[in-house]
Amino acid sequence: MHPLYTQMPTTIFETMSARARATGAINLGQGFPDSGWPQDVLDVAATALLTGNNQYPSSLGLPDLREAVAAHYAAHQGVTLDPMREITITSGATEALAAAIFALVEEGDEVVLFQPLYDAYLPLVRRAGGVPRLVRLAPPHWQFSAADLDAVFSPRTRLVILNNPLNPSASCFGRTALELLATYAERFDAVVLSDEVWEHVVFDDRRHTSVLAVPALRDRSVKIGSGGKIFALTGWKIGWLCAASPLSQVLARSHQFLTFTTPPNLQAGIAHGLSKPLDWFSAMRGQFQRSRDRLVAGLTAAGYAMLPSDGTYFVSIDLAASGISLDDVTVADRLLAAGVATIPVSAFYAEAPVTSTLRLCFAKQDSVLDAAIERLAVALPGLRS
Ligand code: PMP
Repeated sequence: MHPLYTQMPTTIFETMSARARATGAINLGQGFPDSGWPQDVLDVAATALLTGNNQYPSSLGLPDLREAVAAHYAAHQGVTLDPMREITITSGATEALAAAIFALVEEGDEVVLFQPLYDAYLPLVRRAGGVPRLVRLAPPHWQFSAADLDAVFSPRTRLVILNNPLNPSASCFGRTALELLATYAERFDAVVLSDEVWEHVVFDDRRHTSVLAVPALRDRSVKIGSGGKIFALTGWKIGWLCAASPLSQVLARSHQFLTFTTPPNLQAGIAHGLSKPLDWFSAMRGQFQRSRDRLVAGLTAAGYAMLPSDGTYFVSIDLAASGISLDDVTVADRLLAAGVATIPVSAFYAEAPVTSTLRLCFAKQDSVLDAAIERLAVALPGLRS
């Protein structure tokens, strides 16, 4: 048995969700939406299940879906991809991450990662034998500098793992940050693995910049996407890896021996969804933005100081600026007792955690958000004393 797993605690998301269920608390912890998925995507998948071919599809994914992914990114991000040589469909972004990390990291290779970290990254890097080199990002902007990169890049750097937009901080890395990263990736001959599952959930007319849209990164990056986040169907686990053909070949081999392939009917549903008109995606963003604004307005009126949320389903409370001197884990415990589950952002750090922010998921119906605001408002004076 590998000690990495025997010693691993349950994730904070599962723990908080279980405690929310046990106590009847409103769950603003785990990031899943409670309404708003597209019925036609479900219909296409249901029809494909009943009338289509339910045997193993190609390990690379249904050609229709690979073509839809390529057409989608050409239309939305100005990225040109060869659907037959540069795209591999996976069982969610999680499998895409595993396939890429196992394909690209060898024992002793250094891997640059940015904290706060999505929870799957470190265990996968460690299991692949990689040596993590961590950059610590901090509120309110959560950006990295050249000095940060100087401190972690070395001739042993093989891979950089980036999450953009970044969960849990709800911040984005723009073109300038990606170009800065590109200079280091080029100098040290590293590959950039960019987890872009939140690419469509960006607000205030922001445009997502993919690593593949940065010329210096086009041939040395792997972009990961997921239908789960784009269509609010987080249980479907349809993801993809996009990379220049030589990299793609290796990724496809790694994927072949993880899951080999992915349910064909769900792939058909996502292919249909990706082909929706551009307006559909702006309307979807608009809905999440309204929910963000509702939660932020309610909590601001109640006296909480909120950090900016430029993307994802999340927004964070700035505890110190809200007049709360307790750390995030203590506050999350107290708020659970007050009837609302949240996630302490320190859980996303492997070392030197930021302990002054608490993540809330706003992808919920108005009535749920309103009830949560009420409970959080009642709890605030107790947190300050
Ligand atoms: N990466 C990030 C940053 C995520 O937030 C998530 C989902 N919470 C995933 C990967 C996993 O995506 P999937 O469900 O497609 O495996």
